[in-house]
Amino acid sequence: MKKLILLYLLMVTSTVYPACFFPADGTGVTPEVEKVLAGITDGQKIVQFDDMKFRVEDLEKGGFSGPPWTNGQVYYTFHSSITSEQATAWVEAAENWPLYANVTFIPRTSQANYISVFPSTSNSSFVGMIGGAQNMEIASWDSEFIIAHEIGHALGMCHEHSRPDRNSYVTILFENIQEGKEHNFELRVADVYGSYDFDSVMHYSGCAFSIDCPAGSGCDCTNATIIVDPPNEAWQSLIGQRDYLSYWDRCSMAGRYGAPIGQAMFVDSTSGLPEYGTYCYPYHQLSTALGAAMTGETIFIIGGDHNYAPITIDQWVVLGADDGEAMIY
Ligand SMILES: [Zn+2]
Repeated sequence: MKKLILLYLLMVTSTVYPACFFPADGTGVTPEVEKVLAGITDGQKIVQFDDMKFRVEDLEKGGFSGPPWTNGQVYYTFHSSITSEQATAWVEAAENWPLYANVTFIPRTSQANYISVFPSTSNSSFVGMIGGAQNMEIASWDSEFIIAHEIGHALGMCHEHSRPDRNSYVTILFENIQEGKEHNFELRVADVYGSYDFDSVMHYSGCAFSIDCPAGSGCDCTNATIIVDPPNEAWQSLIGQRDYLSYWDRCSMAGRYGAPIGQAMFVDSTSGLPEYGTYCYPYHQLSTALGAAMTGETIFIIGGDHNYAPITIDQWVVLGADDGEAMIY
């Protein structure tokens, strides 16, 4: 099993690009980004693209890659005005990521690099581990997956609709975007894991920054800003979900940090991918997982309708349903 996980890591990390990357050759610093940089005032140290913050000094170097957290260890503190309920909400949101990637969230004692969580009237985060203290501002304390989205940025994720191949999947209607908000829809050089992920928690809704909506937000709009192209139109009303981490949210984070050490095995009979028993590369048949499982080990059956070949289980294992329920009959 260890050997198989190692193979999986080698395979995925060999194709990893830096997250949300502004390359040093200038190809990622577009005219809109230049406009933002040109508009900064003397002494301004931070620039924000929608909910993503960057240090001006990092962008002015011409390149920035949103570095991963060292050893996947993410330290955090809470501002003194944060209630215990809010602190619990943040930790619960954060704990979605270690289920699928080798990241650990640890209260800071004296570490140099850490997230400092503040209450605010809007949500924002730096991208990646920038070094030193980095503020994360949260307003949506009652939305677990808006907080998980901000933490996704802090772990190095960019917006899905900014990935370089997005124009093959969606059309951005710049005429429907609020004036001055166009930079939120620009392409970034970023990680590309799997096919374009309409389901990503890092994707915007079709009405984000629409001229129909209040300044700086989305709403139910007539003039959409993101149109899903054929043949995927069914996703139009679904993009921008903040209810769960999508399959590729989970797998791209595992690609960045590695799969969790000692994680359970996963089975998915619909997978056409190579099978290593990990969440992202599950075994195809329960019998394969049982053959690899040690006594008492947990095997998760990934949700959906599957047909598994009939088997007799003659060892003690724990069967779990990954996302909701599994019926065995
Ligand atoms: Zn965001």
